[in-house]
Amino acid sequence: MKNKFIKLTMMATMFTACSTQPTAPVADDFDYANEQFADLQMLRYKVHGFEDLTLQQKVLVYYLSEAALQGRDILFDQNGKYNLVIRKMLETVYTDFKGDKADTNFVNMETYLKRVWFSNGIHHHYGCEKFIPGFTPEFFRAALKTVDASKLPLAQGQTVDQLCDEIFPVIFDPTVMPKRVNQADGEDLLLTSACNYYEGVTQEEAEDFYAKMKDPNDPQPVMYGMNSRLVKENGKVQEKVWKIGGLYTEAIEKIVYWLEKAMTVAENDQQRLVIEKLIQFYNDGDLKTFDEYAIEWVKDLDSRIDFVNCFTESYGDPLGMKSSWESIVNFKDMEATKRTEAISDNAQWFETNSPVEDRFKKEEVKGVSAKVITGAILGGDLYPATAIGINLPNSNWIRSVHGSKSVTIGNFTDAYNKAGRGSGFSQEFVISPAEIKLLEQYGDLTGDLHTDLHECLGHGSGKLLPGVDPDALKAYGSTIEEARADLFGLYYLADDKLVELGLTPNKEAYKAQYYSYMMNGLMTQLVRIELGNVIEEAHMRNRALVARWALEKGAADKVVEFVKKDGETFVQVNDYEKLRDLFGQLLAEIQRIKSEGDFEAAREMVEKYAVQIDPTLHAEILERYKKLNLAPYKGFINPVYTAVKDENGNITDVTIDYTEGYAEQMLRYSKDYANLPYRN
Ligand code: ZN
Repeated sequence: MKNKFIKLTMMATMFTACSTQPTAPVADDFDYANEQFADLQMLRYKVHGFEDLTLQQKVLVYYLSEAALQGRDILFDQNGKYNLVIRKMLETVYTDFKGDKADTNFVNMETYLKRVWFSNGIHHHYGCEKFIPGFTPEFFRAALKTVDASKLPLAQGQTVDQLCDEIFPVIFDPTVMPKRVNQADGEDLLLTSACNYYEGVTQEEAEDFYAKMKDPNDPQPVMYGMNSRLVKENGKVQEKVWKIGGLYTEAIEKIVYWLEKAMTVAENDQQRLVIEKLIQFYNDGDLKTFDEYAIEWVKDLDSRIDFVNCFTESYGDPLGMKSSWESIVNFKDMEATKRTEAISDNAQWFETNSPVEDRFKKEEVKGVSAKVITGAILGGDLYPATAIGINLPNSNWIRSVHGSKSVTIGNFTDAYNKAGRGSGFSQEFVISPAEIKLLEQYGDLTGDLHTDLHECLGHGSGKLLPGVDPDALKAYGSTIEEARADLFGLYYLADDKLVELGLTPNKEAYKAQYYSYMMNGLMTQLVRIELGNVIEEAHMRNRALVARWALEKGAADKVVEFVKKDGETFVQVNDYEKLRDLFGQLLAEIQRIKSEGDFEAAREMVEKYAVQIDPTLHAEILERYKKLNLAPYKGFINPVYTAVKDENGNITDVTIDYTEGYAEQMLRYSKDYANLPYRN
């Protein structure tokens, strides 16, 4: 599960002295901020400490980074069945167009292509709505006719005109495939979602298909359906499994090729076993093998290098079952990990003392391992927009029996913070200089800590009552789960225990995160949504839910309120202690909903607090944000690793380079890692 806090509170920040604070990298002239287009800004991240790894570790990172890039096309195809075709059409015109490249149509097509690269498809990576092209079908058709037709993704016997007739409605008609993931209550979520996880199957048929597979008495259920497309062929509903010899075999074979190389330079036997199990899973597609792999992965705690490379996150499936492919390669940040170890060493204390009912608590918290990592490469659903914290595996029974691994990715947060200095954001939205000072003093520190608590403890806390289906909350499950983890973190941020552990410097620091959380949840996260749309994404829904619930329940005591100054709206927190109590109360209720699998309560909670937007407030926020000329979403350009070889072909060093541009990188990936047919 990902913690996609996208840092909106970027401000000049002084690091407060604190023994377990991650070492702030020395000021450097590294170019963190890169180009900006549409609602996106590209950043670079620095792989601190890569040079200090041993040669064997560097080679391992290199092999795993190749494996991470080989699956890129899988995600494009998972996100929509025409994405690979459309990407190739756009790229061919982009590189080979002979006409005027300063023409508005061409310029707008370039922006559209950059958005498609960023989103791994034609729908917004966060809001899921289809992009509106700023160029005309007439221009695009004419342009496609000027390029070498052999470079176009033509189907067998297809002409360029026929290709346009087939694909143009998908690009230009707003009523065709309008949403990647539709969550609208009461509609058939499969038929109305453009994601490519189901073909010709209704929601009811899919739910029946998987309901029949599930044995409610199985204490160790596999994650049914997570590695396949569900299709109806000749009237029969069946799975097309993603594996070698199955769907996506061309890409998976390449991934496995690099994983096999990685095995030869593994740091130890446990890590080698992890890679071996993963290769076995890519071969047999058996979900039992996946669980075996996940268990070995959780046990691999001694390695410096770690990685994710598989079908992982289910946010892209309206039913929350099918997993998008993603990869990250990373290594442990030894110094910063001391902070998360202080948290995980006390995991049982936090569980025992949480405000939830005892019957929903874990008697024994197992293996909450937590570390701060340095990201080395991003792939699939983590590229270029990434999470800053990850907690895996997702299987509930494995988490409760074997524990989970929780990481926060230090160098990404660092890059967000550095790139956002002096943006004017807090001057515009934070209510007064006192709050601005609070955020400058403690904002980064408590933001990082909240991520740690969310990942290390939040997701791992609590338990389902016996017999409760882990998927009982259906489409509301992701939002409830994220709210649970966020609330666990918020509740404990204000606890004296954190001061005692040396994690916060004093009893005031938590207020920085409380303020920015409420401001974000009630107001500023709306900058990422277009006027007229509702909130869709699970993490954004969760933050709206938490903040609006607290606003409403604390209204009588004026715990938090909206205040107008010169016609502009601000969030004011009047009573931080009462706000903490409210977070505790909501945590107890959200945990109850999760533990009991109370679908109706989940639906009511999410629909009431987390979806709709006040249009007047929304318009005001967008207007104020626009003046700042900032991009609400960020993504990362990967560094380039090069293996230096001697005359015998042995790798003698791996170098890292940060100079590749965004379009340059995307075009290279589309050339070197184009592993799938255009139509799958
Ligand atoms: Zn999370």
